[in-house]
Amino acid sequence: MTSPKTIQSTLLAASAQLKNDDAKLEAQLFLQYALKVNHAWLIAHENDALQPNIHAEFEALLNRRLHGEPMAYILGCREFYGLELMVTPDTLIPRPDTETLVEAVLGKIPLHENDEIRILDLGTGTGAIALAIAKHRPQASVIAVDASTAALEIARKNAENLNIVNVQFVLSHWFDNLDNENNNVNQFDVIVSNPPYIEQNDAHLTQGDLRFEPLSALVSGVDGLDDIRQIINNCLIHLKPQGWLMLEHGYNQAELVTDLMAQTGLTNLETIRDIAGNNRVTIGKNPLIVSTHWD
Ligand code: GLN
Repeated sequence: MTSPKTIQSTLLAASAQLKNDDAKLEAQLFLQYALKVNHAWLIAHENDALQPNIHAEFEALLNRRLHGEPMAYILGCREFYGLELMVTPDTLIPRPDTETLVEAVLGKIPLHENDEIRILDLGTGTGAIALAIAKHRPQASVIAVDASTAALEIARKNAENLNIVNVQFVLSHWFDNLDNENNNVNQFDVIVSNPPYIEQNDAHLTQGDLRFEPLSALVSGVDGLDDIRQIINNCLIHLKPQGWLMLEHGYNQAELVTDLMAQTGLTNLETIRDIAGNNRVTIGKNPLIVSTHWD
């Protein structure tokens, strides 16, 4: 007769199969998910026997991981800037690198500001950037657009789950649907985006998590800059005088993005490094002092 499977023996066997650096943690997360318990409970009950149905559910999660599926898609969630976000294969998985972009935006918006601050997040995906900003700057109104209806669905659910009410979601490919509206109401203090920026033949696309993520959220033409060019070329009519454009980009794209921003007339250009020390965010300002609108 085989001895009953305990939490401890199950975790050990799974860690040995997973083999990656986070094997133990990943195995624990799967078991917490199957048992609907937290980390502390799991550690305190290491010698408990597992019910066969729980063990089977655990094995199913483990097998998905062994086939390479990202943790965030298996568990259906990912933490970003302190927010618990629902994540599906329709959305890019929020990354710690992108928290640098949120920090940069928050740095430009005073916490106590009486005027209404308007922010546009282009290609919102799970809503990560828009929701993090909206949560920390309740006086701001945030418009978050995405070209994918499925992604917008998730972003809306995340806003609802987090009780964040100052974000409005709009179906639009970059500025396209905003352009149909009156420009006066579509001028922003900050336009922020983590657009796709990977080169279409980049070898990383066939490795790790990227294999499972939506290509439309990752790849942008031969040099990875097609979408960044579109955003930069069209940003000025949507920026208030003195408004900021803030873009995430690849670690080796800072110089090109800076050149594109300079060519379009943005000033005060600056590149910011992410927590890994890579150039990750470049920002530029609309130099206009007064509005050019005849209103
Ligand atoms: N930062 C992601 C990566 O390199 C790419 C996301 C994006 O293209 N915006 O894995």
